[in-house]
Amino acid sequence: MVANAAEDLGAKERLKTSLEQATAIFAEKNIRFTELRRKVFEEIAATRASVGAYEVLDRLAKKGTRLAPISVYRALDALLEAGVVHRLESKNAYFACRRMDKPRTGRPPIFLSCEKCGAVQEVDGDEIFRAIDTAASGAEFNTRVRFVEVSGTCHDCAAHRPA
Ligand SMILES: [Zn+2]
Ligand SMILES: [Zn+2]
Repeated sequence: MVANAAEDLGAKERLKTSLEQATAIFAEKNIRFTELRRKVFEEIAATRASVGAYEVLDRLAKKGTRLAPISVYRALDALLEAGVVHRLESKNAYFACRRMDKPRTGRPPIFLSCEKCGAVQEVDGDEIFRAIDTAASGAEFNTRVRFVEVSGTCHDCAAHRPA
């Protein structure tokens, strides 16, 4: 089914690690990592790209877990709340946190989204968010929701691009 067995194994390892990290974060925050939340998280963490709620619903249905959209949205809310997934606003899709192994600094990341393969990365956006706050307060504007998403080409796709 998968051409590259080694790659498949790597993906499985990554998913296993993500699950362990998410489990630890849920425990630390005293939030229940229910079976449903776990299942939804697995579907999101299984890919480097972002996944829409209905895609999660479809994938789970194919595995025999039929859910109402509201159940998936509730599970997604819990995952967002715990910080183990993030929402890509521009695509209305979700992806697993890429920095669960890093100490949680509370510093907001910016999201880099590849237009070719759909992979999402997160990098430290502290300075950018500080600049946004400065600009907003200059306009006497109280910020509430702030997110920064950048579209472009990821390292892997750039490397494969014909010269
Ligand atoms: Zn993150
Ligand atoms: Zn890419």
